[in-house]
Amino acid sequence: MSQAYLNGEYLPLEECKVSVLDRGFIFGDAIYELIPVYNAKPFCLEAHLERLARSLDQTMISNPHANEEWQHIINSLIEQSGLTQLSVYLQVTRGVAKRDHAFPVNISPTVFGMTSAWPSANSNMYEKGLAVVTAEDIRWGRCDIKVTSLLANVMKKQQAVESNADEAILVRDGYVLEGAATNVFVVKDGQVMTAPKNNLILPGITRDVVVELLTDNNISLVEQAATAQQLTQADEVWITSSTKECAPVTTINGKPVGTGHPGNLWQKVYRLYQERKV
Ligand code: PLP
Repeated sequence: MSQAYLNGEYLPLEECKVSVLDRGFIFGDAIYELIPVYNAKPFCLEAHLERLARSLDQTMISNPHANEEWQHIINSLIEQSGLTQLSVYLQVTRGVAKRDHAFPVNISPTVFGMTSAWPSANSNMYEKGLAVVTAEDIRWGRCDIKVTSLLANVMKKQQAVESNADEAILVRDGYVLEGAATNVFVVKDGQVMTAPKNNLILPGITRDVVVELLTDNNISLVEQAATAQQLTQADEVWITSSTKECAPVTTINGKPVGTGHPGNLWQKVYRLYQERKV
């Protein structure tokens, strides 16, 4: 039974109950965060807490906890899970109130947390690489906030699954922005491109780690969105997220990327990423 946290209490996931009037349920009026944990230690915790605070600030949900309190909740969940490789999911909703679009006054946010065992290493993902499809980005104009209202992302991921692909890469006005749940890196002639951090992408923590690794290792990087054509003509494409880390893409819309195998630069970055984890 997975261990969870709800509004100050630690309890089994199955025992967590939230009102149907919770605005997270009614409106998707909520934000979330997912923190990978390696060897029982949260990875890039400060960056995740900073993004959590920013998501709350941008949605005008009051931050129910100081960073030390968040850390305490996260560490308690890790300890109680008995796992060493896991993820901690946190969600904060605006709270419970009579249904009305406008923000209610005097309500407390709902705070939920749960742990999940890390999926056992999917070596296929790194040995064979992933298949993706391109899809139109139909999301709203504040993709930079980590909100739980993910219907467009869910629909695009389903589109990928129905095409036997692992991820959908979202294209808006001819530019490659990010995946349904990942950031995207495009490599051509040794130069790496990734979309800049603005309102059109989620500022991925894994993206930041990869950007830092590239910069520290003098690998040429431009933070500029690739065109859909540059994507399909790339030598290598990678997708990044807390759960996929940095994974190679080997087919796009059924056609091979570069040689059709994980590329050399990806192998180097993957190795650097593994070293950064310890
Ligand atoms: N982009 C989107 C749309 C996402 O949903 C996610 C993760 O959920 C990411 C990028 C990757 O973010 P991170 O590296 O912080 O997991």
